[in-house]
Amino acid sequence: MAGAKPKPEKLSSVDYHPPSQSWMDVPPNVRPGTFNWAANPANAAYLDLPHVRKWQPTDEDWKLPDNWQQIVLEGLADRLQKYRSLKLFMDICVRCGACADKCHFFLGSGDPKNMPVLRAELLRSVYRRDFTTAGKILGKLAGARPLTPQVIKEWFLYFYQCTECRRCSVFCPYGIDTAEITMMGRELLNSIGLGIDWITTPAANCFRTGNHLGIQPHGFKDSLDFAVDELAEITGVRVEAPINRKGAEILFVSPSADYFASPHYYTLLGYLALFHEIGLDYTWSAYASEGGNFGLFHSSDMMKRLNAKIYAEARRLGVKWILGGECGHMWRVLHQYMDTMNGPADFLEEPVSPITGTKFDHARATKMVHICEFTSDLIANGKLKLEKSRNDNVRVTFHDSCNPARAMGLLDEPRYCIDHACNHFFEMPENTIREQTFCCGSGSGIGTDENFEMRMRGGFPRANAVKYVHEIHGVNMLACICAIDKATLPPLLEFWVPGVEVCGVHELIGNALVMKGEHRVSDLRGEPLPGQAGADGEGAADQPAEKEVSKDV
Ligand code: SF4
Ligand code: SF4
Repeated sequence: MAGAKPKPEKLSSVDYHPPSQSWMDVPPNVRPGTFNWAANPANAAYLDLPHVRKWQPTDEDWKLPDNWQQIVLEGLADRLQKYRSLKLFMDICVRCGACADKCHFFLGSGDPKNMPVLRAELLRSVYRRDFTTAGKILGKLAGARPLTPQVIKEWFLYFYQCTECRRCSVFCPYGIDTAEITMMGRELLNSIGLGIDWITTPAANCFRTGNHLGIQPHGFKDSLDFAVDELAEITGVRVEAPINRKGAEILFVSPSADYFASPHYYTLLGYLALFHEIGLDYTWSAYASEGGNFGLFHSSDMMKRLNAKIYAEARRLGVKWILGGECGHMWRVLHQYMDTMNGPADFLEEPVSPITGTKFDHARATKMVHICEFTSDLIANGKLKLEKSRNDNVRVTFHDSCNPARAMGLLDEPRYCIDHACNHFFEMPENTIREQTFCCGSGSGIGTDENFEMRMRGGFPRANAVKYVHEIHGVNMLACICAIDKATLPPLLEFWVPGVEVCGVHELIGNALVMKGEHRVSDLRGEPLPGQAGADGEGAADQPAEKEVSKDV
């Protein structure tokens, strides 16, 4: 990590006073804890990225290519021509300020350049100088400035201090989506070799082996076999986890964190129990062994290349349709881009649940259904026996992961699942959930150790809302449906709200699910299962969890 980890006392005191000088005169401060390391050159070369070299943000000289300004400006011209939305976003902002205090990075840092309006202005000022008459003639008076090495450093800092969460766009009266401006900014940075490693290396791994961590097919199979054994130990029921099975009805794709990380792994156990119980005719794929797509955080070209394997594998295996697991940005890609990027998937059928007969007609284009939609439908049709008291050891709140919530409107299905799997479910304050949800602060490839301070600052508003329900209702579990959230919320909560853990929705479903022939005394984490005869957890129902109230927030 770049620098020692800060304490909550330090980060909770935020200075919102703007600096006295113009924002254009404040130089970028590349300080430890607030930036990400540069892309590993070997992995950048593997992806065939341009201008690969060894450099770090802490270097004085970033070794930019000789004609870097020309590359960026031509790239901007190209994108202005290609994306009408970008051109509009550059021209129509009236600087009303409605978005200013809606970004978690501004709320957590007080840095004006983390206001969405000013983040966009970093790019817009260059656009004005080179692409508008007023900017060419009046320069700074018209809010224009030339593209200098200092400007490019500023872009690098602040376009990697935006999680592309789109919360600001909910409040903009003109619908300006600063996340899209960030995406363009990152594309331009990458065109001159200014990528970050936590995006480049997982993307390269995906090309090599199909998943972010570079797990090879035999490792993937080992992980699933291990989960099958563990589930048999917990439930007494041996399930199957079929891989690359041609002719299966459904291809299941999940983020790879589900089979190698914790607490994601308990969600995997939940999927396996569910699919067995309903007798689902499905298969995993060792090639499409990653639903997550770090291309979204790099460039549209990279996103397209990484996404292509899902349809390719669905075609090769001859399935009818695709079911997708709990992931955030995976669903943004699938829901918003997949059909136009790599479709039409006319070799697949419109998804129909083989258990309930429900036609998922909203997925007729992508042919891909979210696991929470699928499970909600099973519950609504009475196909699952769920014993809610088995989750009585947890008092649950739900974090709407930005992408499923804002990018695809998946707001009610996860809540419906939780509500049918738990007795104790509490919502966080209204202005922090559903479309207005606060980001974890670590999405879009910036959940790194070296960026720890900025992650804790960015996650502060989310943690604050969790702290509220922790103190009022004794909430001790935060459920979510995103692999990045499951990785980044535990350290965030440990920092701001100790005593609250993180789980997936299908972990709760897997705990509550009464399986035929089962014998269970423990939950999917191996802890005593509440309400089971002989289990230590018996009688835990209705007991509020012991609260650890932090005085740090
Ligand atoms: S809310 Fe929209 S129009 Fe207002 S300052 Fe922000 S981006 Fe500009
Ligand atoms: S997209 Fe999210 S992180 Fe980026 S400026 Fe808007 S609110 Fe902030």
